[in-house]
Amino acid sequence: MSAMPATNRRIVLASRPPATPDPGNFRLEEAPVPTAAPGEVLLRTLWLSLDPYMRGRMSDAPSYSPPVGIGEVMTGGTVSEVVQSHAEGFSPGDLVMGSTGWQEYATAKPSALRHVPRGPAPPSTALGVLGMPGMTAYCGMLNIGQPKPGETVVVAAASGPVGSLVGQIAKLHGARAVGIAGGPDKCAFVRDLGFDACLDHRAPDLADQLADACPKGIDVYFENVGGKVWDAVLPRLNPFARVPVCGLIANYNLGAAPPGPDRTAALMRAVLTKRLLLRGFIVWDFAAQQDDFLQTVGTWVAEGKVRYREDVVEGLEAAPAAFIGMLSGANFGKLVVRVAA
Ligand code: NDP
Repeated sequence: MSAMPATNRRIVLASRPPATPDPGNFRLEEAPVPTAAPGEVLLRTLWLSLDPYMRGRMSDAPSYSPPVGIGEVMTGGTVSEVVQSHAEGFSPGDLVMGSTGWQEYATAKPSALRHVPRGPAPPSTALGVLGMPGMTAYCGMLNIGQPKPGETVVVAAASGPVGSLVGQIAKLHGARAVGIAGGPDKCAFVRDLGFDACLDHRAPDLADQLADACPKGIDVYFENVGGKVWDAVLPRLNPFARVPVCGLIANYNLGAAPPGPDRTAALMRAVLTKRLLLRGFIVWDFAAQQDDFLQTVGTWVAEGKVRYREDVVEGLEAAPAAFIGMLSGANFGKLVVRVAA
């Protein structure tokens, strides 16, 4: 157990960004370390996950989850150490995964926590390949993408925790995996993971490169970004292609509808004539599959069949800039903050 200071540093939402967030939308505050009530535990945050969905929580536009209130602690997944326990099954020193936000200390009820085993995989993986992003890739692919041997799977944000696992799952199912990522270093990493090809989405001839990389068309497009990548993919989708619609990060910082003509009619014509399946999902739609995910992907990681990369930033105060950078690709791998050693 670590010595406990009297103050809890935390980052709150100071204001809502109209478009791209800036550091002024966040505020670092100090507050007393909270007290665990009967049935609760007091947690010290070791790792904080930074994820694209947090951009949505900064906005009060209608969504699948309520926004963070102004002045409230930013939401976020964490791996923490139990400092004090008034709850059965939890002891000081235990590692737990929860959603305790951008702060150094928090209290929580056991129902909101999951033990993180001290195993071969580092605890931070509970926020990445063995956490929410990994489960997103796993459940989106198995339930919606359903890759088959010989098919072609395309995914963007391919060096990140969702995309990198999507492509590796495609390969484990005997499919061809084509990644799309920002820049030569990320593309080299993606190819090294075993993807058959990786294209730079900033290339002016992305659509031509995609045609070359997918000579038999695209059977599964795991949609992480939208924007220009989607424009390049749509004409190459095969009849009966499946599109798990997971994220649209190219649009998250747009203050208004994307520029250009309304293309809904052309999209619907493609959906009809090619009998496309486009299905949006949120990872927790598949909450019942969490044990299966942890067992299967945990084994793949332990056996070296799945690899992952983390991008670690140091200290809670570094979270806002790292988060803002992630929205335009400054991260390289699963972005996590080491809040405490
Ligand atoms: P990443 O760690 O991959 O980070 C986001 C990446 O998006 C950036 O690094 C950048 O990579 C890429 N990106 C940003 N803007 C663009 C753009 N305009 N065009 C192409 N790529 C862009 O994130 P995650 O793996 O955590 O998440 C990937 C996607 O999955 C996100 O859209 C996220 O919202 C979604 N998601 C959805 C969930 C659900 O339940 N539906 C759950 C978890 C995640 P690069 O440099 O390669 O461009």
